[in-house]
Amino acid sequence: MFLRDVVGLQPATFEEVTSAFGALRTNSMAFGGGCLNASAVYPILSLASHACVPNLEPMRQIGLRFGFTAQRDIQKGESLTISYLASTWEHRIVTRETLRQKWLFNCECDFCRDQTEFGTFLSCPLCASFGGTCPGWMVSKEPLQADADWQCLECGETKTVQDIMVIEESARSIAERDQTPEETRLIQLRALVHPSHHEIVKLKLRIILSATGKTPEAIGKVFSYCQDILTLQDKMAVGTSKLSQRVMRHLVHAKLCVLQERQRKGLMTKEDILGELSRCNILSQHP
Ligand SMILES: [Zn+2]
Ligand SMILES: [Zn+2]
Repeated sequence: MFLRDVVGLQPATFEEVTSAFGALRTNSMAFGGGCLNASAVYPILSLASHACVPNLEPMRQIGLRFGFTAQRDIQKGESLTISYLASTWEHRIVTRETLRQKWLFNCECDFCRDQTEFGTFLSCPLCASFGGTCPGWMVSKEPLQADADWQCLECGETKTVQDIMVIEESARSIAERDQTPEETRLIQLRALVHPSHHEIVKLKLRIILSATGKTPEAIGKVFSYCQDILTLQDKMAVGTSKLSQRVMRHLVHAKLCVLQERQRKGLMTKEDILGELSRCNILSQHP
């Protein structure tokens, strides 16, 4: 009605309008910012396939054009992929359901196929069978089957996907307890899920990116969490992503704070600091 009567696209049939709406809903990219918030179908970009850990990520947008950078080396003949999702840090079952509902496909990317999600265990709860004593991690027996049971890698005990989602809900509830100190929430989460579970990652990122504490303890935690995130990014082979670079800046800043504090106390000279930084070799590990 709007396209025919207001925009003047007459005579547009009902099928043409619904087809255009469908293309816009499933193939469009959002662009703009500020007072402009729109989406458009880009003829080439719309052909790009989704991968939960893609090899391309969007660059800062210039005008109405899109550009992408490689998150890792791309082999000749390898498909160029982008992520249709707003965030990587979500449970696999939730992510795959979002893709199914909004883009109407079952994702079968390498990350979805891998029981351990490239060794990150982003979605994995602690087994805790035998009175809470089993320290194993639960993984899906069939990662591409939404209703498949999950099994402990240590003791072999199984849980239904409903059991897994109950644990997931508990983890989400702990992560969202804003009145509880972040460090306490991290301890509570570690008793329930893998140390690299996505709720723990999101909490650590929040601590890193909003870090204002100047105490050695606060700086030490930021340093440690930055290393955790970068290790995770390396496992996912996205070491050159924008997130990795951002975390790297915080890591270097935390390291400098620690070294400057030692210099202030007379424990290090400027030359010692430069030597320490060159030994760290941080930037060459994570360009
Ligand atoms: Zn996937
Ligand atoms: Zn177990």
